[in-house]
Amino acid sequence: MPDKNIPIDLKKLSFSDSVSYYFDKAAPFTGAPQGLLDQIKTCNSIYKMNFPVKYGNEVRVIEAYRVQHSHHRMPTKGGIRYSMQVDQDEVMALAALMTYKCALVDVPFGGAKGGIKISPRQTSPEILENITRRYTTELVKKNFIGPGIDVPAPDYGTGEREMAWILDTYVTLNPGEINGYGCVTGKPISQNGIHGRTEATGRGVVYALNEICSFKDDMKDIGLETGLEGKRVIVQGLGNVGYHTARIIAKYGAKVIAIAEADGAVYDENGIDIDDLYKYRQEKKSVKGYGKGKVIADSASALELECDILIPAALERQITEKNAPRIKAKIIAEAANGPVTPAAEKILLKKGVMIIPDIFINAGGVTVSYFEWLKNLSHVRFGRMQKRWEEKHQTGFIKLVEELTGKTVPKARIESLIHGADEIDLVNSGLEDTMIEAYRDIREFKKRRKSEIDLRTAAFAVSINKIKNSYYAMGIFP
Ligand code: GLU
Repeated sequence: MPDKNIPIDLKKLSFSDSVSYYFDKAAPFTGAPQGLLDQIKTCNSIYKMNFPVKYGNEVRVIEAYRVQHSHHRMPTKGGIRYSMQVDQDEVMALAALMTYKCALVDVPFGGAKGGIKISPRQTSPEILENITRRYTTELVKKNFIGPGIDVPAPDYGTGEREMAWILDTYVTLNPGEINGYGCVTGKPISQNGIHGRTEATGRGVVYALNEICSFKDDMKDIGLETGLEGKRVIVQGLGNVGYHTARIIAKYGAKVIAIAEADGAVYDENGIDIDDLYKYRQEKKSVKGYGKGKVIADSASALELECDILIPAALERQITEKNAPRIKAKIIAEAANGPVTPAAEKILLKKGVMIIPDIFINAGGVTVSYFEWLKNLSHVRFGRMQKRWEEKHQTGFIKLVEELTGKTVPKARIESLIHGADEIDLVNSGLEDTMIEAYRDIREFKKRRKSEIDLRTAAFAVSINKIKNSYYAMGIFP
């Protein structure tokens, strides 16, 4: 435990210390006893592994991790990232964020995270497959994976392909396990994945922002009008989360004026054509040389441009005490995990910036992972049982209306009215509801406190309270 009498130097906090710092800031608002707070905050299991992998004629030792932060609910859940930045502190921080995120949005999992210290861009698909399968085997050996134990998912540097390798390795090692497909989420549709999982984090960010921007008083406080229409947005990162966030927010009428990537940023006051830029980046592996708008070589400076909403959707610790004084956004939406450091947060809050915390705004990914896991355990696609029935039922209603009124309902109208819910409709509806409900909880908690608390502190407090209640229900704490 840190000595409460020694002032904390926010600039020196590691990533996992930063998460603990946010936790400690919220703890007094929960009324939980210290012993319980200590139990909630601590990492339950840390598995560090080193294994050899062949790179052509050479053998390299790979460093990898799986951290299960909290076993208060099982299975534990969280992505696996492939990056050269991976170390134990990072994985611990990310696992802890998963615990608070899941509790906040009522997804019944403990938090976990995995990481492999490799550069996916500089590793051939064959070697990536070997590493992924070997990592999964190590997890199986130590009972660190399984539909009721710990369920990985995609994160930075991983996607459907890696999840398919994990699944295949797991089911091979566990023949006949009826729920084996629930050992990992974010799988391809053909491998029992779910529609809407790929874009879920980005879609969740937009659903949340749409809700946040609908409150007149809150918007007035930061000098903005309600609604996403016409808002000027900057997105950092054109990976899975950044791309879908930018694409979907543009559909809501917002104008994405800048996209910052690692090797340069694109700026266009008229709004960037997201799909066009994404295609270019996929082909050229860079945004450099993109013909439309202006390319800014110093990509970090793009975060400091005038805008309404800044969405960091790449890695942690992108907004620090160094660039925070120059940030002009009114809202920062943390689509990435941990993009704003505590030192930066202090500066930004003083300037009146509304910071929407990661544990809430990027929870859409794990929410739809939960739906995927439910689908795997129930062995049936959402909507399969009721779609046709709904359509027949609705058609009957329309016929009745026509009979009673003597009028004919136009064909196009009938089609949209009778449409029974497909899997994607149900997933998106569940996701939207989750984001709206969670934001209302956070907002109300914040409003109820007479003392001014920020949204992150409110989000952490709501989350800690939910975990506290599940410990109380288990009778572990008096
Ligand atoms: N990696 C994502 C996150 O940080 C998703 C985790 C999951 O779906 O389990 O929330």
